[in-house]
Amino acid sequence: MRSPKAGSSVDWVARASALPIQVRNFVGGRSVAGDGGTVLRKSSPRDGHELYSFAVGSPRDVESAVAAARRAFVDGRWSQLPAHRRSEVLYRLAALLAEHTEEFALLESLDTGKPIKDAVAFDVPRASATFRFSAAAGDKLASQVYGVDARSLSYQCRRPLGVVGGIIGWNFPLVLAAEKIGPALAMGNSLVLKPSELTSLSAARLAQLALEAGIPEGVLNVVHGSPEVGAALARHQDVDMITFTGSSRTGKLLLVASGESNMKRLMLECGGKAPNIVFNDAPDLAAVADGIVARAFWNQGQVCTASSRLLVQEDIKDQLLQLVIERASALHPGDPLKEQTTFGALVSAGHREKVLGYVASGEHEGARAIYRAGTPEPLPGGFYVAPVIFDEVSLVHRIAREEIFGPVLSVLAFQDDEEAVRIANSTIYGLSAILWTRDLGRAHRVSQSIDAGWIVVNATASPTGGPGPGILSIGGHKQSGIGVEGGVDGLKAYTRESAIQLFV
Ligand code: NAD
Repeated sequence: MRSPKAGSSVDWVARASALPIQVRNFVGGRSVAGDGGTVLRKSSPRDGHELYSFAVGSPRDVESAVAAARRAFVDGRWSQLPAHRRSEVLYRLAALLAEHTEEFALLESLDTGKPIKDAVAFDVPRASATFRFSAAAGDKLASQVYGVDARSLSYQCRRPLGVVGGIIGWNFPLVLAAEKIGPALAMGNSLVLKPSELTSLSAARLAQLALEAGIPEGVLNVVHGSPEVGAALARHQDVDMITFTGSSRTGKLLLVASGESNMKRLMLECGGKAPNIVFNDAPDLAAVADGIVARAFWNQGQVCTASSRLLVQEDIKDQLLQLVIERASALHPGDPLKEQTTFGALVSAGHREKVLGYVASGEHEGARAIYRAGTPEPLPGGFYVAPVIFDEVSLVHRIAREEIFGPVLSVLAFQDDEEAVRIANSTIYGLSAILWTRDLGRAHRVSQSIDAGWIVVNATASPTGGPGPGILSIGGHKQSGIGVEGGVDGLKAYTRESAIQLFV
């Protein structure tokens, strides 16, 4: 199934019913059934019906996938290729993925409940761009020479780590997979990927495409299943690194698993509770309101960098909230497979319950719901939650401190810069933050005081300019993670260095 032509109208429901859906592991270049002895049933976020079921993987599957990855690494079929040859293959994978935009967009929309339009416009191009960046930068990380004279040569050389385990969450399954596969493979490693048990559709299909692009058998393996499969990977003695995207709670368990096994390296990209800080000199409040709604509710709020806390200077609060509510009320949950839908469903019934539990806790603890649409149900049985906005939120409320990962915006007022910074830094997280001000001195001072790995000043809803996708190296502060993903430093994280000194 190839890409739709630009501008053409597609009947996505019909396409979805014709789409072959299969969830099997991918080990040593072959598609194999999971060995875990139980069947996992996945309900469709659109309408709650069973979408697919599959035999879950087991620690035995992890064992054979790690063995396949190790064999591939040791015999050098990929690890010892010149870096520019690996780059050529990754460029081919990027192009093949782009050619299969329609198929992958459908898999992502069906699995997660995100609008098909977003999957076409963001998820597939972004994953493809990640492979292109890894290909473009991967062959430029040369070893560095620090001393040459007639009797010696001293240099720092960079080599692949070996076998990397990738464990990922469900909010952007294809993008998160690409963010692990691209850099790990560009640097010459082999990978065993464990997708979230909530979204199993795109990873193994991507591994098949990788084989077609020229990535040798055994270099990229996928094992589906429950947290038990992730834990087996994390505790494996022959895995050199775990690269993880998911909750801070699981991130902490991975630290223990590494410490109790072989001290494998960890890259942890974890949760967030980003503040969107609006000062009273913010430029054009209508544009600010557009940006707030876009950043709080995109992907139904299921984004690690979602700005789920609006910190607004007291004297402009009423004016700004009116504009924010106007925009939020235009977001009606719709069938993810309709092209006009801009706000879809949550990933699962369990996650919907968790989000609604937070809404109830906000009401119970004394925050004031200033916007909440009625129960939406574009399709009966689907996992829909419309945006909710709480005002008069205080730091003692759970909705001010905990990651909800859904379409719930908490509003907290502040008087001055110092109070804004104090509130912004008041959670266990430090992933990202947004500031709105015309005063560049204030923007600089406040940015320097905020604990976050990614800070954007004046983040319009659709920014123009700036670097391309994946070029910045971003990682969480505090309990949002360890290490950085993206950019050149994100690639270096998949290598180990040796200082080599030769004396003659
Ligand atoms: P999660 O931690 O529940 O699960 C993530 C993955 O870890 C899944 O594959 C799961 O099966 C596996 N897992 C769970 N327990 C495990 C264990 N004990 N050992 C090994 N593996 C285990 O997270 P989630 O609910 O799937 O994803 C949502 C979270 O991901 C949110 O907190 C969100 O902020 C975060 N996230 C972070 C980023 C980032 O770049 N920082 C990006 C996207 C999502």
